[in-house]
Amino acid sequence: VKDYTVKYNKAFSTAKIGIMVILILVLFESSIIVETSPSIGQQKFRPCNIILMIGDGMGTGHITATRISINPDKLLNMDQLSYGGLIMTHSLDNLVTDSAAAATALATGFKTNNDMISMDPDERILETVLEFAQTNGMSTGLITTTRITHATPAAFAAHVPDREMEDKIAEQLIESEVDVLLGGGRRYFLPESHSNSVRRDDKNLLEKAETLNYTYVNKHEELLNIRSRKVLGIFDDTHMRLDQERESRQPSLAEMTQVAIQILSNNPQGFFLMVEGGRIDHASHSNDLGDVIGEMLAFDLAIGVALNFTRSETAKLSTLLIVTSDHETGGLSIDDSSKNEDMEIIWCSDEHTGNMVPIFSEGLDASLFTGVLDNTDVVKFIFQVMRTQREVIPQQQPLQQNNLMNEVINIFKRLQNILPFL
Ligand SMILES: [Zn+2]
Repeated sequence: VKDYTVKYNKAFSTAKIGIMVILILVLFESSIIVETSPSIGQQKFRPCNIILMIGDGMGTGHITATRISINPDKLLNMDQLSYGGLIMTHSLDNLVTDSAAAATALATGFKTNNDMISMDPDERILETVLEFAQTNGMSTGLITTTRITHATPAAFAAHVPDREMEDKIAEQLIESEVDVLLGGGRRYFLPESHSNSVRRDDKNLLEKAETLNYTYVNKHEELLNIRSRKVLGIFDDTHMRLDQERESRQPSLAEMTQVAIQILSNNPQGFFLMVEGGRIDHASHSNDLGDVIGEMLAFDLAIGVALNFTRSETAKLSTLLIVTSDHETGGLSIDDSSKNEDMEIIWCSDEHTGNMVPIFSEGLDASLFTGVLDNTDVVKFIFQVMRTQREVIPQQQPLQQNNLMNEVINIFKRLQNILPFL
């Protein structure tokens, strides 16, 4: 009897250890599942980050002139992305697009008429890539150096038949709850009683934003020290200053990009971020080469920030970076009268042109964005990348559960060899 009790106690403590091992394994396995495949409801998927950077009005002439202004043999950040191609930019009703129809094509994959913001010609709403990201639990952000209500950022989160409806666009941007909104355009967020307002109603969208949990900031240092995960940063009444005239209270496009990536990358499900170098277009309408180069270099610095993130250890398998343009402005070319040290340029227009524009890509499935594409193809491929990231997991999930179950069964089998009574 004594012998049996000793044996039984030994067996019992071995069983306890076995059960503890199983519990630890179960906890360990389930924590792996949570980490590698965040869930939304019942859906499991891999994280993915999409950064779409748009140089408004940027053509190959703009890139060449900017490179030459530094050193004709030195690559800009945008020159260093791994893949390149060209995109066609015509809109539904015009061979030469405006920023509204072009941004609609880039945001939704549909061509529409000039001046329309993410609506088809019959004013039906077109779903945007940003909205698709939101419904999939991803964080979202829009950054520009123009008014945040301007056509390019607007087309990702607002739907209006005319780009001039910037008061409506401001309302829709706030209501769409994009996590990070950074740019200019305060005059559309203030009630008409305010001297700087251009609204024709008494809506105070800055107050409304705070009721929707936005932290509102309007200064450089406030943005750099932000702790909130939902930010409305408005740094000018209208467009932000050109980079060369930027005041210390205004952040650079690169700083805005850095802060946005820091905030948005907290979401394990990933993020969608659009960054616009919005005033390359304005400098090109004025045929001002100095301002074009200033805006291009500011945009290129922001691309450097995004490229570093895309190539970082933590993000490189899950991040896609795209740099492109909505249309070319000015027909900017390097003239034959140029000497080595002295670049001469010619402008053929002070309006948009129908020239193809470049597209560069890096990271997750970046090779899709090569060759000659239509502007509507860009977001179609982005949708494809985002869907693929989701489709992978349903096949993986039962596999991981099987692994877990097999592990538990194996441990039981092994324990049974030691402890026949289990
Ligand atoms: Zn323009």
